[in-house]
This record gives sequence, C-alpha cells and structure tokens, in this order.
Amino acid sequence: IDELDDEYTTVENKPFREQSPFNEKKEKAVIVILVRNSELTAMRKTLRQFEDRFNRKYNYPYVFLNDEPFSDEFKYAISVMTNAEIKFGLVPSSMWSVPDHVNETVMNSQLADYAARNIMYGGSLSYRHMCRFNSGFFYRHPLLAEYDYYWRVEPGVSFFCDIDYDPFKFMKDNNKEYGFTITLKEIPETIPSLWEHTLKFAHQQELNTTLLGFFGSPSGGYNLCHYWSNFEIASLNLWRDERYQKYFDYLDSTGNFFYERWGDAIVHSLAAGLFLNKSQVHFFNDIGYKHDDFSHCVDDGIFGKCMCPENVPNFDYSWGSCLSEWKSYAEEGHQWDFKKNGD
Ligand code: GDP
Ligand code: MN
Repeated sequence: IDELDDEYTTVENKPFREQSPFNEKKEKAVIVILVRNSELTAMRKTLRQFEDRFNRKYNYPYVFLNDEPFSDEFKYAISVMTNAEIKFGLVPSSMWSVPDHVNETVMNSQLADYAARNIMYGGSLSYRHMCRFNSGFFYRHPLLAEYDYYWRVEPGVSFFCDIDYDPFKFMKDNNKEYGFTITLKEIPETIPSLWEHTLKFAHQQELNTTLLGFFGSPSGGYNLCHYWSNFEIASLNLWRDERYQKYFDYLDSTGNFFYERWGDAIVHSLAAGLFLNKSQVHFFNDIGYKHDDFSHCVDDGIFGKCMCPENVPNFDYSWGSCLSEWKSYAEEGHQWDFKKNGD
C-alpha cells in the first residue's frame, strides 16, 4: 500500500485566483474528507461554511477520498467552491476489504445479530470498512504522504465561528498532536472487547501512560468516553508512528472491526490515551461545530465571532458528554504503568 500507482488518484490543480497573505506561513497540512458521490449536496453545504469561516483565507489543500471513483459531476460541483488545490483520490481495495484472517461466516452472523439488536449501523459492512479505514489506513494513503497535519471534515457538518488563526500552526507551535471539539460516550454494544484488548496491548508493550486514566472507570472498565472523530485536527505522524501501527495491527488481528463494530473514534481516543499526555490533546473551544444533533458552540457575545444556532443546544454539559470529566482530569494523579504486573 505504500507504493500505489497513479491509477488510484486523480489530481485537479487550480491556480489560486487570489494570493492570500495567509499563504506564506502555511503548514504542511491538508483537509481530508471521505465521502460518497451521493453526499454531494450535504458536502457542498459544509464546504460553503468551511470556506467562509476558514479556508478562503488560508487555502489549505483538500483531499477527497472515496471507495468508488468520484463522478465528474461531484468533482466539478466541489471544485467551483474553493480556490484551494483539490485532489480526488480512490481508496484502494487493500484498505477497504475484509482481511483473510477474518472468518466471513462468523462475521455475517455477527452482522445479522447486530442488526437484529437494532444497534446503530450494526448490520452495515460498509460502515465497518469506513471505521477500519479511518483507524488504520487513511494516513497511509499516497495523497496524504506530503503532509504533517490534517483536519477531518464530513459532509453535513456545520461551522459557526469565524476562525481567524491557523489551527495547524497552533498545533505545531504548542506541541499538540490531537484536537477535538466534542467528547462523548460510546454505545457499549459496539465495543465489548476493545478496552480489554487495549489493556492487554499496554501490558505487552510495557507502556507507561498518563492519559489512559481519563478513559478508565472507577470499577476498572472503560468509561466509554472518546473524542468524536468526525472532527479532528491532528498530526498524521501520530498515526504513522510505529507504536500506533502496532496497536492498530494488534486490534485488527482480533477481527473485531468486523465481528464487533469498533469505531475509529474509540480507537483514536484510546491510542491518544496510550501514547500522549493530556497537554498534547487540545480542546478547540473556539471552533463552533455541529455533527448530527450534537453541537459545540460558545456564544462569545455581541463583539464575538460565533453565530451559535438557537435551535440546537450546546452539548458540552448535557447527559452523555465527557467534557466536564475532560476538564477536571489531572493526569498527574493517574500514572498507569503497565510494567508492573496486575494492573
Ligand atoms: P457517522 O458519523 O458515524 O454517523 O457515520 P457517517 O455515515 O457520517 O460516515 C462517516 C464518514 O465516512 C462520512 O464522511 C461519510 O461520508 C463517510 N462514509 C461512510 N461510509 C462510506 C462509504 O461506504 N463510502 C465512502 N466513500 N464514504 C463513506
Ligand atoms: Mn457523520
């Protein structure tokens, strides 16, 4: 997969119509969007906001990815919305298929069982491919090779605040590796064995963690908190690091991206817990954002930069949010050293 040839990529370069002064201090960063042709309308709505609030000033390049070729209509309807460079890429089947070690009979009966229990996306194989791709592959896509940071965007999300600084530069200057806007609890049925496997991995690797404690409950299990990965501003090198690759490969070897329904948000979050300190994870309080019915937006007043929606309450301190736990988490008291036995 490191050496995919050009047939997986099409590139459309558009010369910038205006040279923004912001361009000069640009980071090696990219906006990454995995999307289907059928999501064009929602994609355009999101892009209109994303451009207006941020990227028309910064002109960071976009990489659009799809497991099927993008239609000409899609490519044209997107390219009229920005002056930034756009690349449309195909996800190779090596990054979007059921690996040989997964028993398809077991998988199919698990999918049927999940569907019968009405667990969200429980019966969907494509959803599982998407989660596994976002967990273990997107950062190895050849179109992302030249970048150090990414901002993940999805069709249908909204942005409510003018962003008048470069979040990628902020990440770099402040040694941040991962940034989020919403943190919440997962549906437990999707991840029956993920916590257990994560602890096993931590033991095997003899990790000394400080942030994993944020995800632990007093009873020793997983408290279900995670950063919601439909929004991410993060370092690509965090995932390219060998220690993360080991973690992903171990998780993948269990087959549970398919037998269970492991989400990439949980995998990224627990990896942050294993490998990062709290200070390397940033809560972007100033980026007003909405995905589905969950929104984070801080009304910064009549002289402020945000237009928070009136009909969508701020999720920050609602039931199911983990933001107060995040704010009160003091990692100093939570050294969790897996060199010792019996943890
Ligand atoms: P949710 O956020 O967990 O409800 O899942 P979504 O349906 O929003 O999917 C997450 C992201 O992956 C979105 O950007 C989707 O457009 C994208 N996505 C999901 N499934 C597929 C798929 O089968 N093909 C492609 N190309 N994109 C997908
Ligand atoms: Mn979504």
